[in-house]
Amino acid sequence: TITMSAVNKWYGKMHVLRDIDLRVNKGEHLVLCGPSGSGKSTLIRCINALEEIQSGTIEVNGNVLGRKGAKVDHIRRDVGMVFQQFNLFPHLTVLQNCMLAPRRIHRATEAEARDKAMHFLEQVHIAEHGHKYPAQLSGGQQQRVAIARALCMGPQVMLFDEPTSALDPEMVKEVLDTMIGLADQGITMICVTHEMGFARAVAHRVIFMDRGEIIESAPPSEFFGAPKHERTRAFLGQIL
Ligand code: ATP
Ligand code: MG
Repeated sequence: TITMSAVNKWYGKMHVLRDIDLRVNKGEHLVLCGPSGSGKSTLIRCINALEEIQSGTIEVNGNVLGRKGAKVDHIRRDVGMVFQQFNLFPHLTVLQNCMLAPRRIHRATEAEARDKAMHFLEQVHIAEHGHKYPAQLSGGQQQRVAIARALCMGPQVMLFDEPTSALDPEMVKEVLDTMIGLADQGITMICVTHEMGFARAVAHRVIFMDRGEIIESAPPSEFFGAPKHERTRAFLGQIL
């Protein structure tokens, strides 16, 4: 469970998160959308402590962030993240990319890390490319490796920040299908995406952010069918 209470964040004088209250239950799938600069990336980066907050609290599976003694490394262990730019280590093979963190952080043996890596690479249908380097793969393949790499840490929560927006159109589907498969396994997911077909398929709730605020939060049927807020309607009008 993730609970954000009255979270505020500033970059210098710019107020980028305004009184964010958000609760995400175990197994829940949330899609976060909103205009560029509305604070979507900042919000999810706060959840795994990649950004500091100036007021409020964030609790991830019982660990309260931002307090002295907050167990940031515990939180990062529980929370996997996949970025727009796949962020694979270019000098490591696919398999090595997936084995690195379990070896270093979970102190897994070589064999354990390899077994786990192969398991998740198979799940994302990329195991046969395990010996290749990221540059030898397509964007969609690299993103699936990034997802497998995150899963190798056994996260309870997965955060996705526009995982398909850097991909050529023909590769978007393979990544979305991978994410839909993950959702079917019941993992907690927060996805920043404008892929509204994906949102309809897997989201329990869609959240619309604008200028640092959560404007609307509703199940997809309601969100798309009868958005309450004028700004949500304007936004949907632009992207649909
Ligand atoms: P996009 O859809 O373009 O990815 P976003 O909703 O993810 O946008 P954020 O990246 O969270 O928006 O940015 C929110 C605001 O904070 C923007 O005005 C942005 O310019 C600003 N911002 C983001 N990162 C920084 C930073 N490291 N330093 C200063 N300002 C930042
Ligand atoms: Mg962003």
